[in-house]
Amino acid sequence: MIANYHTHTFRCHHADGTEREYIERAIEGGIRIMGFSDHIAFRFPDGYESDYRVHTSEVEDYFKTLRSLRDEYKNEIEIHIGWEMEYYPLYFDKMLENAVSWGSEYLILGQHFIGNEHPHGKYIGEGINGEKELAEYVDCVLEAIKTNKFTYICHPDVVLYTGDKAVYERENRRLCKAAAKADIPLEINFLGIRDHRHYPNDDFWRIAGEEGCTAVFGFDAHRAEAAFDGGSLSEAGRIVEKYGLKLAGTVSLKPLK
Ligand SMILES: [Zn+2]
Ligand SMILES: [Zn+2]
Repeated sequence: MIANYHTHTFRCHHADGTEREYIERAIEGGIRIMGFSDHIAFRFPDGYESDYRVHTSEVEDYFKTLRSLRDEYKNEIEIHIGWEMEYYPLYFDKMLENAVSWGSEYLILGQHFIGNEHPHGKYIGEGINGEKELAEYVDCVLEAIKTNKFTYICHPDVVLYTGDKAVYERENRRLCKAAAKADIPLEINFLGIRDHRHYPNDDFWRIAGEEGCTAVFGFDAHRAEAAFDGGSLSEAGRIVEKYGLKLAGTVSLKPLK
């Protein structure tokens, strides 16, 4: 594994360590291309800023620090600076406009909420059983794919769905068909493997394999040690093998303009 596009920094308030520690850990593990993709800063119209994101006041420092490290380490590793971002129908245009104005290189989709997150949204990683909610999640992912701005889809199986199996199957097949058609990679998320979360979900990856989807590995590092996570490689490899997924070792970053 030589590329990882999913790396956080302490600015999202649930990660720790310095960027330099992450970079050195990645180099040590043999990573040649490293993307920083912290949870994108966003101020909702009422002034609210989510605590799990970079605050808008920290954006300047995010770029300044990473650009300087990118130059310093340019002979050892190729560093890219982007964001992990949701697709919210109400706010996508503004969020993209911000990302462009900051000079971001790329976006990956990490759809953590439905209902535009704030003030009445729902976090989808902690258990939903309604057909409507699952469909809304899939609709957001489909709309995100259509924008052609997202380089890949992080943890597409992040929804903890406790409802009817047939519904899970139908909705995720809709997601996977669209991803395969648009040729957008789906991430096997190493944080899920490391932390024994409900994802990666074998039911999801079976469908992805049947639909001819491409997978990509993402460390989703929130600590320096995870900027190279060799310990999760065999489980990720098992999923690829078992479900006959295509695996993208590197991806081309989708331009934002
Ligand atoms: Zn995070
Ligand atoms: Zn992440």
